[in-house]
Amino acid sequence: MTLLDRLKAGARTLLGNRRADILSPMGPDAESPGARDALSAIQELSRVVRNDPDAVEIYLALGNLYRLRGDIERAVQIRSSLIVRPGLDPQFKARALFELGRDYRRGGVMDRALAAFDEARALGADPEQITFELALLHADSGAFQEAAAQYARLGFRPAQAHYMVRHAEDLDRCGRPDEARALLAKAVKVYPGAVEAWRARLVMAARTGEWRRAGKLLREGLERVPASIRFLLLEGLLELEAPAPRNGNGNGVNGTNGADSADFEKKRCATVLAAIEAQEPDLLLQYYGALFLLRCGNREEAGNWLAKAMVLRPDFWAARLELLSLSMEQQHLSPVFRSQLEYFIEHARKVKRFVCGSCGLRREHTFCVCPRCRSWHSATFRMSLQD
Ligand SMILES: [Zn+2]
Repeated sequence: MTLLDRLKAGARTLLGNRRADILSPMGPDAESPGARDALSAIQELSRVVRNDPDAVEIYLALGNLYRLRGDIERAVQIRSSLIVRPGLDPQFKARALFELGRDYRRGGVMDRALAAFDEARALGADPEQITFELALLHADSGAFQEAAAQYARLGFRPAQAHYMVRHAEDLDRCGRPDEARALLAKAVKVYPGAVEAWRARLVMAARTGEWRRAGKLLREGLERVPASIRFLLLEGLLELEAPAPRNGNGNGVNGTNGADSADFEKKRCATVLAAIEAQEPDLLLQYYGALFLLRCGNREEAGNWLAKAMVLRPDFWAARLELLSLSMEQQHLSPVFRSQLEYFIEHARKVKRFVCGSCGLRREHTFCVCPRCRSWHSATFRMSLQD
């Protein structure tokens, strides 16, 4: 084994055999556990590189470690000094340019990143890795249509559909709802399990009061989306605010607003419950059904739905919390005891309810791509407070 091989092996060992390998196309993530080991790895590699200035592999790996630590300037310096070295093998130059592109992308300098990837491609760098980097670059810079096109080239349909949805949401915000709808319909054809596409379609229908269409989309979405993430459809609908009155008499008058809002809650609840009842009994669907019932003030029925959820899983904390909250209203409690209980219920509601099924990251809000391990559609509902 040469010195170089030993050092490469050493660098890998230092970073661990994790997915965030410094040499992987995904690249490392600053939040990954590997980042903690980066400093000691840099120190070790720096020492050896000083003794062997021609060790190109090591030099590139060192640059990757600086990038991992967020020291983009140093990483760029390392690539640049290599690229200008006379007599450098074009293969190494292509690698250095590729890594330079990744440095610039990480540093948010998108035009330079693009230029570096173009040069790397011309010198024969791996086209698939460049396409992947371009997909990330366009996604980071908000060019979602382009990001979708790059993922299509890679044949990675979940990501392609995801960025089609992001682009559709932009179109909708710019007052082009028909184009947005057409694109969302296309996204579920590209990838039928695209929960975000079903959710966006559902939310658009609900927002414009098309309840029959919303019901149809919800039933279809619940069938197509993987069972573990179906709750995201209901979460999306639950987050939707009741719309303010559009125009006409009484616009802005509290009474009118209240009536519109109550009507919205009632229709939303009826639509959701009908779709859930068409499914096999399911803990999360049961729980979300209860939340919609609570939103429209039907406490008794909500209590029944929660009780059924408890039968399916007695230790499901979220249903237990809602039941406690409901039963508290029916009890005669001393003001002090009531205030204590309210304090704990309020805090329990702030528990981070969503957990990445791949890396265990907890989040208050749902996500389609895990911010830490970058897994797709790995969000789960936190079933136990120990999770
Ligand atoms: Zn994760």
